[in-house]
Amino acid sequence: MRSSTFVFYLCLGFGLVQPACLGAPGRAAEPQFWFQRALVGVEVGPTGAQFSNSDTNDTRYCARFNGAEVVRRCVAAGSEYLVIWARDGDYAYYDSRLLLKCPGLGERDVLREAIAEARPHKLPVIAYCVVQQGGHYLAAHPEFEMRDAQGRRLGRFCYNSGYLEVMKQIVAEQLAYGLNGFHIDMLDQGFGPPYGCWCEACRKQFEAQFGGPMPNGVTWDENWDRMLEFRYRSSERFEKALYAHIKSLDRRASVDFNYHGNPPFSWEVGQRPVQHAGNGDFVTGETGMWGFSAATVGLNAEFYRAATPNLPFQIAISRDARCYHNQTVRPLADLRWELFALLAHGGFVTVVDKMGFDGWLDPVCYERLGAAFKEAQAKRSHFGGQPVQDVAIYFSSRTRDWVGRENPAEYFQSFQGAHKAMLYEHVPWGIVLDENAKLETLRQFAVVLLPNVGIISEKELALFARYVEVGGNLIVTGLGGCCDSRGKLRDNTTLEKLTGARFVRRLDSLDNWVQFPKSQATGLARHFAPASGADALFLVKGPAGVFEPITATPAGQLLKPYRTTRQSEGKEGTSWPMSAEAPVGPALLLNTVGKGRVLTFAGSPDYATASERHIPEARRLLASAVRLLHPSPRIEIAAPVNVEAVVTDDPSERTLRVHLLAYHSPPQTTPLERRPYVLPALLEDAPIYRATIKTAQPVKRATAFNQTTRITHRGRQVQVVVEDIHEVIALTY
Ligand SMILES: [Zn+2]
Repeated sequence: MRSSTFVFYLCLGFGLVQPACLGAPGRAAEPQFWFQRALVGVEVGPTGAQFSNSDTNDTRYCARFNGAEVVRRCVAAGSEYLVIWARDGDYAYYDSRLLLKCPGLGERDVLREAIAEARPHKLPVIAYCVVQQGGHYLAAHPEFEMRDAQGRRLGRFCYNSGYLEVMKQIVAEQLAYGLNGFHIDMLDQGFGPPYGCWCEACRKQFEAQFGGPMPNGVTWDENWDRMLEFRYRSSERFEKALYAHIKSLDRRASVDFNYHGNPPFSWEVGQRPVQHAGNGDFVTGETGMWGFSAATVGLNAEFYRAATPNLPFQIAISRDARCYHNQTVRPLADLRWELFALLAHGGFVTVVDKMGFDGWLDPVCYERLGAAFKEAQAKRSHFGGQPVQDVAIYFSSRTRDWVGRENPAEYFQSFQGAHKAMLYEHVPWGIVLDENAKLETLRQFAVVLLPNVGIISEKELALFARYVEVGGNLIVTGLGGCCDSRGKLRDNTTLEKLTGARFVRRLDSLDNWVQFPKSQATGLARHFAPASGADALFLVKGPAGVFEPITATPAGQLLKPYRTTRQSEGKEGTSWPMSAEAPVGPALLLNTVGKGRVLTFAGSPDYATASERHIPEARRLLASAVRLLHPSPRIEIAAPVNVEAVVTDDPSERTLRVHLLAYHSPPQTTPLERRPYVLPALLEDAPIYRATIKTAQPVKRATAFNQTTRITHRGRQVQVVVEDIHEVIALTY
C-alpha cells in the first residue's frame, strides 16, 4: 500500500493465507505469530518517490529517515508492531546488493537501525516491499516488463517473465536482517487499461495451458474467458511461490499480501476475491476516504473476513486527510471512527504514516495515534467475538467479471447498495462469496440477499435450492439469474424454480417506479407500502425486469417511466429520471419453496440505495423484505442512520456486544471542481444520540463502556443515550 499506492489511488494495494503453515503438525502448542495477538500497528514510509523515477542525485530525500527514531515513536505511541518501508519501485532503504539504495541515506541502513532499536522492546518489525511499481528497477530491466497485445511496453512487471527469481533474492536479503515478516504490496496486474500481458513468455505458457493462441485483445468471448483464467493463475502462482520461498528460509516469518479483490477492484487487477486472498498467512486490505467511502469501511473489513474465513485479517488506513502522502493529520475523532469501526468488525489495524520528504516524523501524528491506540487497548476484550449477522450479502465474482466487464461499477452499485441499506437500517449483515460458499456458510444466515447477481451457475442454483428447502430465505433483486455464463441476457431466468416467476423482459430504463396501490388490499402489499401511504409512487432507480407469477404471489406494481418524444428519437439522454407512466408488472413476488421463501424484487432497491437518487423508501423495501422473511431476529437495533451497529457474541461469557459507531460528518462547502461531488468533511466532534436495542432472549445485565453513556434496561429492551464516536454495550444473557 502506498508509495505505489499513489499510483494505485489514481488507477487504484493487497493479502494472502495458508493456515497450514501456522502450526507445526503434531506439536501441542501452536507457534505464536505476532499477528495472532495484534490489535493496532503503524506502517512508516517515505514521501517523494511515490510517482517513481525520482532524481537519484537528490540527497535531501529521506536524509532524516531513521529506523531507530521510527521505532522510538511507535513504541511511545503503543504500536504493537511496525511495518517499515524496505523497498519501493525506485529504491531500497537498506544496504542492498540487488537494488539501488536511496541516496539520501548515505551510509545509514534503515532496516538495520529499526531492527536493532526494536529488539529490546520486542516490537515485531515487518518489511514493506513492493512487487509492482514502475521506477528505476523496471526501467533498467525491460526484460521483465508486461506487453500489450501489440507488443508495447506497459510499465508493469510480468509475473511469467523471470521477475519471480529476482523477488526471491530481494526478500532473502531483507529477511537476513532478522525481520518478523513481510507486508508485500502491489501484487496487481494494473488498475485499468491497457491490460497485460502478451509477452513471449506469457504467449508460450498460455498455449501450453489452453492448447491454442492468446486472444488478440479484449474480446469478451470464450478465449477471453481463458485469458482471465490465465491472468488469475499467473498471479496465484507468483504469490504461492514467493510465500513458499520465504517460508523455506524462515517458517516463522509472516507473509501477507496487500489485497485488491474487493470492489471497486475487478478482473483487471488479476485477483478473484477468494483465490487471491488466501495465499499468505493473513490478508491485508485497505479502507479510507482516499479510494473508498465511509460506508465501505465496514464493508471492506467483512469482505476480507469472508475471503479468508477463520483467519485474522488486517486493514490498513491512512493518518492523512484525503489520501496518503499529503502530510496532514486527521483529527482524533476522525481517526477514532475508522479505527474503532474496523476493530468492531474484528480486524486488526495498521495506520500508515507517510513521513515528510526528508524523513521528518510529525509528532502530532504520533500523539493522536497514541491516544487512539491506548483506547483500543483498554477496549481489547470487547473485540473479536463471533459475528451475529442475519443477512448475507452475496458477491458473485463471475457476475463481476462477465456482467461488469469493463464497467464493474454497475454491478458493484447493487452489491454496495444492499450493504448500505443494511447499514442504515441496522440489520446485522455479513458477506458471502461465490467461490467459497457452501451450505454451512449460507445456513449461518437467516436471509441471503442476491443483489443483481446476473450469472448463477448450476452449482450455485443447487446450493440456493438446498438452502431454501431446509428453511433459508432468499431475496433476489433486478436481473438476478437472467444472464448466461458470459453475461449475455437470457430469455428466462435460471432462478425460475425458486422465484416461482417467469422472466418476460428487461426494461430498457433505469428510472423505474414502484407503487403499492390501495386497490391491492393484501397483507403482503400493505407490508411493503411506504409510511407516506399506499398509492405513494417512488423512484427505485436501477435495472428492472417484467416478471409474471407462476407459483409466486405478486404484490405492488413496477411502473416504467415516460419518455419524451426527443428521448424516444435518441436526441435527449435519459440520465435524468422521468416520471412514472404505466404499470408493467408486479413490484415483487413471494414464493414458498420447501421450508423457505424466496422474495423477488422486479426492480433494484439495492442499486437505488447506492445511486445518486437514493430515497429512504427504496432502501426500506429491502429492510421490509428482511423483516417479512425473518420476523423474530435475535437482536433489533434502532438508531440514527449515521450510526453503525456491529453485533458480536461471546458464548463462553454469555455476552452479546453491540458496537455503536457514529459517523458525524459536518456539512461541506462547494468544491473547486467536479461540482456537486464533494468529499465528506473530517469528523471533529462526538455527537449525542439515542439508540434502542431489543433482544429475543432476556438480558440479565446491560453495561456501557463509557461513563457518560446513559443506559436504561427493562426486560428485553435497552435504551442508551451515547455521547461519543464509539461505544460498546455489553448484554449478559
Ligand atoms: Zn508476460
